[in-house]
Amino acid sequence: MYEFTYTTHAARVVFGAGSMNLVQQEVEALGARRAIVLCTPQQREQAEAVAALLGPQSAGVFDGAQMHVPIENARRAREFAKEAGADCAVAIGGGSTIGLGKAIALESSLPIIAIPTTYAGSEMTPIFGITEDGLKRTGRDAKVLPKTVLYDPELSAGLPAQLSFVSGLNAIAHAAEGLYAKDGNPVMALMAEEGIRSLAKGLRDINKRHRNMEARSDALYGAWLCGMVLGNVGMALHHKLCHTLGGTFNLPHAETHAIVLPHALAYNSTAAEDAMLRIARALDTTNAAQGLYDLSRELGVPASLAEIGLREEDLDRACEVAMSNPYWNPRAIEAAPLRELLQRAWAGHPPRE
Ligand code: NAD
Repeated sequence: MYEFTYTTHAARVVFGAGSMNLVQQEVEALGARRAIVLCTPQQREQAEAVAALLGPQSAGVFDGAQMHVPIENARRAREFAKEAGADCAVAIGGGSTIGLGKAIALESSLPIIAIPTTYAGSEMTPIFGITEDGLKRTGRDAKVLPKTVLYDPELSAGLPAQLSFVSGLNAIAHAAEGLYAKDGNPVMALMAEEGIRSLAKGLRDINKRHRNMEARSDALYGAWLCGMVLGNVGMALHHKLCHTLGGTFNLPHAETHAIVLPHALAYNSTAAEDAMLRIARALDTTNAAQGLYDLSRELGVPASLAEIGLREEDLDRACEVAMSNPYWNPRAIEAAPLRELLQRAWAGHPPRE
């Protein structure tokens, strides 16, 4: 029997190869006149291309975006926007650059246009994160949600294959946990299942031909759906574990998601049977956790937390931190099976239910 609450966030999405070329008219559609362009130093060239498309409406490129949005960078970017007289910001890049745009919007309410070039999904969420004195503060605020998102699969064609795979698996994690979210609803479940299906197909095809535009389009479409799920419903054990491992041991964000997800799903499998059926169906397999583990092996992404720098002696501490202030989860969080989960993820073993 259905019983749910459905809330959605207003954002305009333009999807298609070449949609970056519409940036100037999208700035105008927001009623803005001068846009700063945000990027990482590595993506300066793409940002310059956006600035050229903006022509006289460009207020300059700020290339100081960094992982985890250090507060100093956010302050510098806000200052840059103010001095340039900007009334809009265009963020071209992954979650780190879009996160910088959100940090600017949080203080100034400047409207953000996001042009995502990874599959992380931040552009569809009102969630922000800012790091100050080594601590990442996260929160939700409707004003940080980008007003317009231009999804252009041509831009992700240059994302190296391994980064594409871990980024795509990171997106699948949002949808997978959205399927058993406490505040889930049937619309998000449809999006989650289709998002996983489209991403899994896209990633497999990218593995055959990295610049295949059809494959890039499938992956980006899946990333949009998975990002919608992340922005609309709560996450559970898997996201708590990844935040713990990333925050406490400074492990890389997307790789950590890719490694932990099959194990978190195995942990929850008996408590979320409908979600597991949908994930397995989307992956065209019979077991959700094993199916994701197999997909990761096929794509050649790291299998173990050991490979990305976690020491075995840190596992007890990881378990303790994950047990503190746990997120809601369909299965109770118990120390012994959680420690076992971490051990298997650390060693790269297949998931065990
Ligand atoms: P990222 O933004 O940190 O990018 C990683 C690197 O890849 C950067 O150097 C970037 O410049 C480069 N890159 C990005 N796209 C490229 C392309 N097409 N071609 C070549 N290089 C490219 O990575 P990410 O995984 O997208 O984002 C991770 C961050 O986003 C984390 O800090 C995470 O917490 C955050 N995040 C936030 C949300 C949210 O809702 N707030 C959601 C997902 C992720």
